[in-house]
Parts: sequence; C-alpha cells; structure tokens
Amino acid sequence: MTCRGTCIRYKAKTNSGNTHYELGHKRCTTCDIFIKWDGIHCPCCNFSLRTRPRSTSGRHQLLLVRQSKQ
Ligand SMILES: [Zn+2]
Ligand SMILES: [Zn+2]
Repeated sequence: MTCRGTCIRYKAKTNSGNTHYELGHKRCTTCDIFIKWDGIHCPCCNFSLRTRPRSTSGRHQLLLVRQSKQ
C-alpha cells in the first residue's frame, strides 16, 4: 500500500476559515494529502482514511482535567 500518485486528482482545497474536516474532506496518512472522496479507503493507496482530527480525544481529556480543578 503506497502512494501511486492518483490521489492528486481528488485533492481537496479549503476556503479560508474552514478546516478540511469541517468540509468533509478526508486525510490519507500514507499519501499525506486531503482528498474529496466518499469512500472509507483512499482511491490511490487503498489505505483507511482519517475523517476526524487526531487531537479530539486529547482535547477532551484536557477539558476533563480543567473541570476537575475548578
Ligand atoms: Zn496517493
Ligand atoms: Zn492514499
């Protein structure tokens, strides 16, 4: 499973103020690119696509720590 270069056809662009995830774009960590694609696997390398930011769970934990201190 490696990048074959076809992902560039699906490359997604953002408007200012919006993140890729807000616009429904998905990230392929193998190709290191954001793409517009309805499937759950990359059309290029067939690897699972990431649909949410990695930091979500970390941010939630931070919130819990803050709340417990108040
Ligand atoms: Zn690729
Ligand atoms: Zn890919």
